[in-house]
Parts: sequence; C-alpha cells; structure tokens
Amino acid sequence: MTKRSYATVNPCVMCQPMGSALAFKGIENTMVLYHGSQGCSTYMRLQLAHHFREPVDIASSSLSEKGAVYGGRESLKKGLRNVINRYNPKVIGVATTCLAETIGDDVPAIIREFKEEEGIGDDPERDIIIIPVSTPSYGESHVSGYIKALDAVVRKFTEKFEEEKAVKIPNGKLNVIPVESLSPADVRELKEIFEVIARDYIFLPDISETFDAPLRENLPKIAPGGTPLSEIADMPNSLASLGLGIVSKNLAVKYLEELHDVPRYNVPIPIGLSNTDSFFIGLVKILGCPIPEKYQKERGRLLDAMVDVHKYLYGVKAAVYGDPDLVFSLTTFMLELGMNPVLIATGSKSRDFEAKVRQIVEKINPELEPMVLNGIDFDTLNDAVSNCNPEILIGNSNGRYIAKARDIPLVRVGLPIHDRVGAQRILTVGYRGAMELLDRITNAILEATDTFTAPVQVETGSIYRKEKQRRVRGRNAMNGKRTECG
Ligand code: SF4
Repeated sequence: MTKRSYATVNPCVMCQPMGSALAFKGIENTMVLYHGSQGCSTYMRLQLAHHFREPVDIASSSLSEKGAVYGGRESLKKGLRNVINRYNPKVIGVATTCLAETIGDDVPAIIREFKEEEGIGDDPERDIIIIPVSTPSYGESHVSGYIKALDAVVRKFTEKFEEEKAVKIPNGKLNVIPVESLSPADVRELKEIFEVIARDYIFLPDISETFDAPLRENLPKIAPGGTPLSEIADMPNSLASLGLGIVSKNLAVKYLEELHDVPRYNVPIPIGLSNTDSFFIGLVKILGCPIPEKYQKERGRLLDAMVDVHKYLYGVKAAVYGDPDLVFSLTTFMLELGMNPVLIATGSKSRDFEAKVRQIVEKINPELEPMVLNGIDFDTLNDAVSNCNPEILIGNSNGRYIAKARDIPLVRVGLPIHDRVGAQRILTVGYRGAMELLDRITNAILEATDTFTAPVQVETGSIYRKEKQRRVRGRNAMNGKRTECG
C-alpha cells in the first residue's frame, strides 16, 4: 500500500463542531452557534441538511479578519444577542471552530461577561442556558464533538444538583446515551422498545423529531421535540445509565456515575444479533423486566432470515468503514452472517478501535485476519481496498467513488449519505434493524450479480464471487483475452 502521511486527502470524518450540532439538536428548544468564520457553519448546515433532508439552522459569530487579529469577543456577544432575539431559545450550545481556538479566545469567560451584561442568570427555569464546548477540528472528529457536547450538557444541567448537594429523589428511570449519532429511525425504534417494556427512560439526545419532522404549515424556527430540559436535570435521580457503544468513551455516562453515583452499563450499539441480545440482556439486568414476546419473535425472524441468506453471504469479502462504534457493531453482524470483513476501518483516531475489533473477530471467526485501520482518509481507504479486494463496501456515501471504480456495490450506512434519499429513515438497530440491513446487503449482492434468488443448486461458498468470476470470464472471452480465472 502507498504510504501517504504528509496530508489528509478526503477525510473519512467530519468536523468536530458538527458532532456538537448533532448532539445539541437533540435537545428541546436548543440553538447552536459556532464561534468562528461563517464558512464553518455553512459547510456543516449543508452536510446535515443534505443528510437529513431537513432545514438545519446553525448560527455563526462570523469572525472576520479583524476578529482573527484582535479576538472574537465582540463577534461572539453580537452573535449571542442575535440568536436570542431571533430564535428565543432556552439553550444555546456554543461550539468553537478551528479559528476561534487558534486565536485563543476564552469562550467560557466571554459567555460569563455576556451574561453579566445582559442580566442572564443560571436558573434553567427562567434563564437562557449557554453551554460552551471546545471543538477545534484539527484536534479530533465529529465523534468526539458529539461526546464532548453531551458531556457538557449533562454537566451544565446537573451542576445545581451537585452544588446544592441535593438529596436524590429516585425516579426509577433509565438514562440512555449513545456514543455516536444514530438515525432518527434508530432513535424511534429504541424509544419504542422502552415503551413496549413499559419502563421510564431519558434518551439523550432525542433527534427522532428534530431531524425528521412532519411537514407543518408554519415552519417553527426551532424544530419541536428533543430531550426535555427537565429530564436532563433529572438524570442524577435515575436508576442507571445505559451507554450505547463500547469503543469510544461515553463521557456523560462516566460523569453521571462518578459524580452522581448513577451506575453505568455500556453495551455495543445494538446492530446485529449478539449486540441486540446484549442490549436486551442489559435491560433485563438493570430493570429486572422480561424480554417482551414481540422481541423474542423478532429475534426468531432474524435468525430465520440469517439462515435464508447464508448461501449468498457466506465468505463474501467486505470492507466496512465509518465511525468507530458503528463499524464495530457492523463488523460483529457481518461475522455473524458468515461474511469475511477483510478491511475494517475508521476515520476517527480511536485508541481502542483495533483491539476491540480484533477481539470480536477472534471470538466469532478466529481464522480471519482482517486489515484494521484507524485515523484513515479516503485515499488510504482506496489503497487498502485495492490490497484487500473486497466484493462489497459498507459505509457512508463518500465511499461511492471507490465502489464505482471497482464496480462493486456500496451499502449506505452511517453519516453522511448525500447521494440517496431516506438517510433519516435507515433503521439498523434492534432485531428489526438487523433484518432490514441484512436484506439490503443481500439484495445489493444479488443485484450486482443478477443472481436468480431461487434456492437451486447452490453450493456452500461465495455465490457472489463465483458469479463475479463467471462475469469476468465471459467479458474477457468476448474481448478475446484470457485471465487467471479464465
Ligand atoms: S475544519 Fe475547522 S475551519 Fe474548517 S469547517 Fe471545520 S471547523 Fe471550520
């Protein structure tokens, strides 16, 4: 593989402040303001609007050359005043961009000064809550921006609890906090599970409505929905916290345990059979509830579907890329399906990614030796794909050029998805999500090979590979050439 470490070419991650927007937008009546130049907010609004097909407002302090030289204090205060006047939010999430961090603006101090000048207090009932979060993009990725923003939100809304040493009033609820942004359809599915098991929960952040809103006659300035602020403040009273994701550190869940004695349980994002089993086992352990019959049946249907498609998927070589925890869970599912994930990659710089992925490969199919990469760009991914020769790609839409160049299918999962509609409705979590994903992967393979789907004369092994070889043989025979396969 060509080693190119001198520059990032087509990053496989998005900006850190974008992750903060994904988190803030799942909180009731919240507006996001980026402290930096205008282009940052334009770029991220477009990314999110194209993916979710929803209007996404993100304000900017619009730092100019003058601000870059003399500091962005006045620009930030002006931006905050404008946001309050135009949007009247209950919460403003202020995320820094590269420029603001490089010039060294002390954002928490500017916000304190602004609040004093405007007479804004710290009472969530009466006052506008302004939450700063440091997210320079040269530091990390959108994944860390998401985690940091959720941590900052939980800290802000529970600081009174800590300061006043309030006595806990148990609410019997379960805090549920994913470590990466899920789709609105995924959030709806998880909320439905809690409703079916009839247990109270606090889901943070809840983007099920804010990023997938019904059409309304009068478009509200801030999309209705999101986790209610009173619920976030109530998190220290909860029975336990369930973190979804085990590769990246879930700072909010950790904070709630360390500062407020709310026990934490981390399970993988529930994609695939065993990861969804772990999710339900976690619920049984924490809540002491039985698994409803509805989900036992869904599990049975998933097993049935896995048996049905085994002949098409067994041994198919796949490359999977995206955010660390999503990739971990997708890899687990591919191994369960008998596929061969030859290349497993994330664009985030994740300390534990490789170890966790190798652990799961060792557990399910120790004979495989996949290439595992972290902190990659699409240029490196392209080189790795050339080396590993996968038959299918699974990841976000930015990998489409690689898939096209190699004439292999791409199953779109994750964020961003810009070249297809319906990203907000892609369901991957739970047994139902696994079935939908399994259908998409299998159909992509069948489509690519035009294989007749009736169960006739199929031997164990990669039907896809055989079909592909047959096609190459046919094509080369027509061209009068012979190949290794031919
Ligand atoms: S990399 Fe930095 S400057 Fe560029 S859009 Fe992202 S936050 Fe803004």
